[in-house]
Amino acid sequence: MKLDLATRLALRADASDRSLAWPVESMNAVQAAGGLAWSIPKEWGGMEWSPVERLAGHEHLANGCLTTAFILSQREACVRQLLKGPRSLQERFLPDLLAGAYGTVGLSQLTTSRQHLGPSLLATATDRGYQLDGSIPWVTGADQSQVIIVGATLGDGQQVLVALPPDRAGVTIDAPLSLSSLVGSRTAEVRLNAVEVERELVVAGPTEQVMGQVGGGGLETTNLALGLSVSAIDLLQASACHRPELVPIVETFRGAADSIRQQLHELVMASEADAVMAVRVAGTKLALKTTQTALLFLKGAGFVEPHAAQRLARQALFFLVWSCPRPVASGVLDDLLSGLSDFRAGRE
Ligand SMILES: Cc1cc2nc3c(=O)[nH]c(=O)nc-3n(C[C@H](O)[C@H](O)[C@H](O)COP(=O)(O)OP(=O)(O)OC[C@H]3O[C@@H](n4cnc5c(N)ncnc54)[C@H](O)[C@@H]3O)c2cc1C
Repeated sequence: MKLDLATRLALRADASDRSLAWPVESMNAVQAAGGLAWSIPKEWGGMEWSPVERLAGHEHLANGCLTTAFILSQREACVRQLLKGPRSLQERFLPDLLAGAYGTVGLSQLTTSRQHLGPSLLATATDRGYQLDGSIPWVTGADQSQVIIVGATLGDGQQVLVALPPDRAGVTIDAPLSLSSLVGSRTAEVRLNAVEVERELVVAGPTEQVMGQVGGGGLETTNLALGLSVSAIDLLQASACHRPELVPIVETFRGAADSIRQQLHELVMASEADAVMAVRVAGTKLALKTTQTALLFLKGAGFVEPHAAQRLARQALFFLVWSCPRPVASGVLDDLLSGLSDFRAGRE
């Protein structure tokens, strides 16, 4: 990894956050630095980095541009699922993904999206495989992708993952959503009407809870929150040379970021569900606190585009909604509510 990659991504971070244009230059920079090969095994021509090396690499990307790092995280999720699936699908998609084609996932309807409603995407078994009907509410880079790993639910409640080529008949990719940040991710809803997928495209299932007990909120999500937090801490540090009151604040935040990084790197070795959720809560709180503290000190100047402070603060809100399962939401809510009863008591 070239050391200046984050700096190069940072030059376009505002445009990627605000403009609907796919961040081609940033993606090319990542590719030129080998970033598309990190997670791909050597037998497919990749670099096969260890999980800790990958976390460090993606934290570095998020430090430069959260939009680019997020787009890549969805591609990484696609690669991870393909690597767990049959070899024939790896042969079909991995060489193109390595060469720069984009792949993404539409899985949240199985885990964190629309859980209070009936299944969003239905699979019906057919002679050749499955027919898919319904909607995938969130697909990052949908209109840029060559393959989308899609999760669907069968009538009996079992779930199946398939590798969907988005040019299939019956697939409609809506216009990108008007997001409050990360606009360049071109996240869209994808609707499916009697879409046929042959058995050879099945990645996993049918089985119960194909994504595991608690889907969402994994280490990769927290790792991007960490990268964003470090950007805000760097911003505070840059001001600390002429504002000594910032020095202990920067030290406190750096200590918290180092501790979260250490926990993340330990958890890739022995992933334990409660600990993964706890560090996700900690990462979200750190992203909110560091970015809002940066705004507090950079004041009105930081609130004006294209100052990084306003962008980082808006982007931190993303971690309240992205891949945020109930245990994570509860942990963050505790923090949001804490201290308010003291405040009320103080008034009485
Ligand atoms: C920018 C962005 C990009 C994303 N990209 C991807 C992607 O590429 N792939 C992917 O798989 N996922 C993606 N996601 C999805 C993400 O991981 C979460 O699943 C999603 O943000 C959850 O939000 P939701 O509105 O769908 O949640 P929902 O839980 O469906 O909430 C929708 C609405 O229903 C209400 N509601 C929720 N529960 C109840 C209840 N019990 N009773 C009544 N009302 C209720 C909520 O208050 C809310 O107003 C993305 C999300 C975002 C924001």
